[in-house]
Amino acid sequence: MKNNNKNCCKQKPIIKLPAGKKLCNTHFTEYFENKVFKTIRQFDLIGKEENLGIALSGGKDSLTLLHLLNKLSKQNKKIKLTAILIDEGIKGYRGKTTEIAKKFCKKNKVPLKIYSFEEEFGISLDDMLKTLDVKPCTICGIFRRYLLNKKSKELKFTKLATGHNLDDETQSILMNQFKNNIQASARLGPKSGVKDNKNFVQRIKPLYLCAEKEVATYAFVNNLLDNFTECPNILKSYRAQVRDMLNNFELKNEGTKHAIANSFLDILPKLKEKFKDGKINFCKKCGEPSAKEKCNKCKLIDKMKKSEKK
Ligand code: SF4
Ligand SMILES: [Zn+2]
Ligand SMILES: [Zn+2]
Repeated sequence: MKNNNKNCCKQKPIIKLPAGKKLCNTHFTEYFENKVFKTIRQFDLIGKEENLGIALSGGKDSLTLLHLLNKLSKQNKKIKLTAILIDEGIKGYRGKTTEIAKKFCKKNKVPLKIYSFEEEFGISLDDMLKTLDVKPCTICGIFRRYLLNKKSKELKFTKLATGHNLDDETQSILMNQFKNNIQASARLGPKSGVKDNKNFVQRIKPLYLCAEKEVATYAFVNNLLDNFTECPNILKSYRAQVRDMLNNFELKNEGTKHAIANSFLDILPKLKEKFKDGKINFCKKCGEPSAKEKCNKCKLIDKMKKSEKK
């Protein structure tokens, strides 16, 4: 095969990067892994000794993350990994992804902890949706965030790594902007939350600078999973609208997502400074950190109880 200067080598290219360079399977894998490990170093995401939690969903992002952090953990035995999966109770989706996650963890010898909405709150997400007139992803996010933080504290994780990629992050930045909720953006970035705060376990996003297309390609060429399953509720979300708009825009103006993330990283320290934590409040009902007297999770539980009584 002809090797023009846009191609990495004589092998068949499998992906074109925004800068125009086309990479083969081997060189793409090398490029992707270097990028993730560089992100970890650049933003000081992982220390020499960690009890790391990995939020696993069974999708391409979190499996890729686990696969890469497992490589790191094999090189440094002081980095301990535990995967944590939240089963929200979404029919036709969560069962399949939980099986994928279980098999993956078994094969990679990483312990997996599973917690379900049903066991922890007595009700699945599907059943919550029958009584609550709130978008599925809003409810799911509130309950999942609560459980992840609570369980991460119980499991004494030093940090919780999530599979958020460049697309997720740029969507969140735009969503907060469109909803005039810039305060929420102060909590974004490759490293969110506060270190050494016993109420929150710090979140880290090693795939922060990797586009969704790159993560999907990496997962596919490295045989991490054979089919992509998407939660059916995503189609009803505000995020899906922003995702489609951004994808269309990226198609016509390559490099837009990177530009959004890079300019955001420039202003992030100022945002964090502006909204730096004052006093942390705690929910009067469950004791978890909350901006108001009662946290959003407890408010939704009360709402469901009220509608049961009617
Ligand atoms: S798409 Fe929405 S409902 Fe489905 S898992 Fe994600 S946040 Fe939850
Ligand atoms: Zn090559
Ligand atoms: Zn509460």
